[in-house]
Amino acid sequence: CGIVGYIGYREAYPIIIKGLQRLEYRGYDSAGVALYDGVDIKLSKTKGKVADLQARAENEITTNGSLGIGHTRWATHGVPNDINSHPHVSNSGDLVIIHNGIIENYDPLKKELTKRGYTFQSDTDTEVLINLIEDVKKNEGVKLGKAVRLALTQVVGAYAIAVFDKNRPHEIVAARMGSPLAIGVGEGEFFVASDASPFIEYTNNAVYLEDEEIAVISLQKELKIRKISDDSLVQPYIQELQL
Ligand code: GLU
Repeated sequence: CGIVGYIGYREAYPIIIKGLQRLEYRGYDSAGVALYDGVDIKLSKTKGKVADLQARAENEITTNGSLGIGHTRWATHGVPNDINSHPHVSNSGDLVIIHNGIIENYDPLKKELTKRGYTFQSDTDTEVLINLIEDVKKNEGVKLGKAVRLALTQVVGAYAIAVFDKNRPHEIVAARMGSPLAIGVGEGEFFVASDASPFIEYTNNAVYLEDEEIAVISLQKELKIRKISDDSLVQPYIQELQL
């Protein structure tokens, strides 16, 4: 399973597809991608291989977005099928997530959200998480980064996630607990991935998130990393990768 994200000035789609291919060694049963051009979000996902995704995305990805996230899934909650494949979108249609790992307490969270009127298309724990983030964002009136952090304080489990918000086209939020996550720091562009292989040809500056850290990756501000538990700032340690 693997995750790849891009935000910057290049066309994101080819970077993400190539990145997913490089992460294929990690094993997976489905693959998917979401692209955002600042107006429309396009989604394509399928059970099967990255090659199957490419065949499908040819018709479905009709945008040249320079924000994108891609995922290979190793199913834990819900059988491998097209609907359970990532990315998953929140009820409002504004928030999009990819996730590797497990949300162990997804069941009580799902019941609570269902009571509040949320509906679910998939059987995944991941779709619960993105709607929890949406719920927190609405109730607390906070921006994406804070909403993700507050939602994660309610979560028991393991994850590497990348999330974006239709209302914030300059930003990706990523977080990690127990699953690897690297951020590639370029000039005017950022990458997020399970390891550095998807971005090594574009930049050799990488920040490896530690467990319990959340990163707000913004084209408008510097990279901000915080502790999920207490919101304290962490100084990003930029490592120079050997080429
Ligand atoms: N638990 C999530 C699911 O089943 C993510 C699995 C993964 O790590 O790819 O959809």
